[in-house]
Amino acid sequence: MQGTMKAAVYEGEGVLTVKEVVIPQVRKDTDVLIRVDAASICGSDLHGLTIPPGVVHTPNIIYGHEFCGTIVEKGTSVEAFEIGDFVTVNPRVRCGHCYECTHNRGDLCSETYHYGETGDGGFAEYALVDAGQMYRVPDGVEPDLAAQTEPLACVMSAINMARPTPVDYVLLYGAGPIGLTFLRVLKTYGVKNLIMTAKGEARVAEAKACGADIVVDVAKETVEDVMKENWPFMADLVIDAVGRADVLTEGIKFLNSRGRMVLFGYDRHAVSAVPPSLIVGKELSLFGALGKDFPGALELLQNPELDLGRFITHRLPLEEIHTGISLLRNKEACRVILYPGS
Ligand SMILES: [Zn+2]
Ligand SMILES: [Zn+2]
Repeated sequence: MQGTMKAAVYEGEGVLTVKEVVIPQVRKDTDVLIRVDAASICGSDLHGLTIPPGVVHTPNIIYGHEFCGTIVEKGTSVEAFEIGDFVTVNPRVRCGHCYECTHNRGDLCSETYHYGETGDGGFAEYALVDAGQMYRVPDGVEPDLAAQTEPLACVMSAINMARPTPVDYVLLYGAGPIGLTFLRVLKTYGVKNLIMTAKGEARVAEAKACGADIVVDVAKETVEDVMKENWPFMADLVIDAVGRADVLTEGIKFLNSRGRMVLFGYDRHAVSAVPPSLIVGKELSLFGALGKDFPGALELLQNPELDLGRFITHRLPLEEIHTGISLLRNKEACRVILYPGS
């Protein structure tokens, strides 16, 4: 396809600009060009725009790694997909030769190329992706939900490690898009007892509407007081969907014996002081989660109970991406979906 398209380009520290760029061309025989039907703004997109950036992005790449679209052109060796297929994209491309890639841990590839971070992503009318990075979206899953496959795949990777059960008492930190995704997955898994922290009235209301049993409004009360009052026996599972160092320091204290803690939020500047005696004395398990389980996510997306549409608060054209970003920064929005190719 010839011509130009609108794209949100990362131009260096703190600068993201929507401008006209050349439509990428199918060159390699595994290349696929998709029209981007929907894309979602991630917390790490916000971290990438702070000065200095919390997540490093390569200058002059097209932003956005959570997206889905319809195939409009494909390379000569692409047989698993047809023009017109509706697909979602795993943005983390494995190198194939590093230690992780050659030892069954390719989703943690140490020399990864990442659409929307180190290479062109999906905040554009069209995106060029490798066929090996795509999954066909199951029938009945709308673009608004398919755009959230990537964050759900990250959450599923954490869920696979923490193995929540319906009898677990779960303390979940953070009511942003990732926290609410955890909440919906845990509810779909049958978790009956869940305390969630939220900041600001909008987020507190959102957490309640999405099914949290008890919401700690951190502006008005402490997790410690709420735990003492409701669960003096503490939690079996603590999940950090915030990524601040103090969540680890505080959250680990609320685990009962043989409890598990998942660290999901990512901030390369965060440093925490956790007493090892706490981990040893209670035989605690800590899990860091960075992998992606796409097949698990696509399976769960078909379950109507998951209902990730519940916390989509804004639907915007690509040109209004900065509105979406400031709404997210001010915690006035939860999930913001963009429609670059329509
Ligand atoms: Zn993301
Ligand atoms: Zn690798």
